[in-house]
Amino acid sequence: MQRNRYFVWTVGCQMNVSDSERLESALQGVGYTPAEQAEDADFIVLNSCSVRANAEEKIIGKITDIQRIKRERPDTKIVLWGCMVGPNNQSIFKKKLPMVDHFVSPSAVDEVLALAPNPIYQLDEPALPVADWEVPPVNVHVPINYGCNMSCAYCVIPLRRGKERSRPMAEIADEVRRICARGAKEITLLGQIVDSYGHDLPGRPDLADLLEHIHDTPGLVRLRFLTSHPAFMSEKLLHAIARLPKVMPDINLPIQAGDDQLLKVMKRGYTVAKYTKLIERIREIVPNVSLSTDIIVGHPGETREMFERTLEMVENLRFDKVHIAAYSSRPGTKAGEMELDPALAVEHGEKQYRRIALERLQERIITERNEELLGHDVEVLVEEFTKGKWRGRDRNNKLVFFEAEGNWYGKVVNIHVTETRPWWLGGDLVGEALAVGAV
Ligand code: SAH
Repeated sequence: MQRNRYFVWTVGCQMNVSDSERLESALQGVGYTPAEQAEDADFIVLNSCSVRANAEEKIIGKITDIQRIKRERPDTKIVLWGCMVGPNNQSIFKKKLPMVDHFVSPSAVDEVLALAPNPIYQLDEPALPVADWEVPPVNVHVPINYGCNMSCAYCVIPLRRGKERSRPMAEIADEVRRICARGAKEITLLGQIVDSYGHDLPGRPDLADLLEHIHDTPGLVRLRFLTSHPAFMSEKLLHAIARLPKVMPDINLPIQAGDDQLLKVMKRGYTVAKYTKLIERIREIVPNVSLSTDIIVGHPGETREMFERTLEMVENLRFDKVHIAAYSSRPGTKAGEMELDPALAVEHGEKQYRRIALERLQERIITERNEELLGHDVEVLVEEFTKGKWRGRDRNNKLVFFEAEGNWYGKVVNIHVTETRPWWLGGDLVGEALAVGAV
């Protein structure tokens, strides 16, 4: 077998995808090449997620699958990386998963890299979060803060990712400059609580300062950021989004539930009225803004009446997207304890009923909202050509498809909307748009 081949397998959020991309890029920098399948690799890394039980089950299934490789070729190194690995659970895993050689905490790219068995070269520059630059990707995700200082009752992430750490502005700016110099057009800044960026840095810069600081990077066309928490969505940030032309008017602001009592149990720190006020303020300050949210259904203690208030809230606020998750009990969390009380736990069938009811409601709302776009032009950054169609995203992050001759990859174009669906828009090419920063 050829040596120095890696296999990286990733489950979970954009942060994990970004960490894995950076690791792959670093591995290539020290002389590794990607293997098509785990069987062909001598370095296997599984980047795991633990936000819900099914993500963990997927990873355990994969490990069980590849233990055969370890039996046949004991030299193969297997690393379990990511959110399944917390500071306090490694000894349990060591017993449960003897085929795994090393356990590494989330986002610690350098630690995984240091475990690669036969590096040929040393990295002369920090690795960028893109593995393959043959064709520059249009969008690149850049983590700006790691960890989470919140203590939401349901969530295991702070227990696995630890306290918040912000990357210095200069380091991020330099990375964005290098990424854009290689041809990327859109940068999405990532953090568990992205809008709390900077409070741990000297001089306490915030997300608004960072957006301003990197805005004029040559080659950069669009800037986005994920995921925000209502507690940190400041007026200063909203004015920065409104003022800076490259910052897209699109905000992901999880509410999690539409009932005050349940929000208190979840320890979210706001009421429905306060959240609604914030949404109104965002819509006032940022013209044509799109808003998406996350909602958990079936949280311990959620009654049918509470859930109905969530439906009412979704009906009122008319989000552009709602990420809906059925509650999944996580070890070590407050809600995990509550779930053990049969009087508080919501049964599986009821959770599914609530999930489907909410999905149906949101599908109707977004169908109506998207229909309002018929006959209008939207500005699209083109990301891909698939199955005879160009595919991209408009300023509000809606998927848009169009057919056209020529090469539109990485271009910003105006599309006249002729067809709308809940999850995408279709239309005709009007021509190239005059986007700030586009060449
Ligand atoms: N930091 C973000 C979200 C991070 S996790 C925040 O402010 O909430 C992404 C989403 O997963 C969350 O918004 C939540 O809706 C969902 N989630 C987290 N823990 C969960 C659990 N135990 N069960 C089901 N969904 C969960």
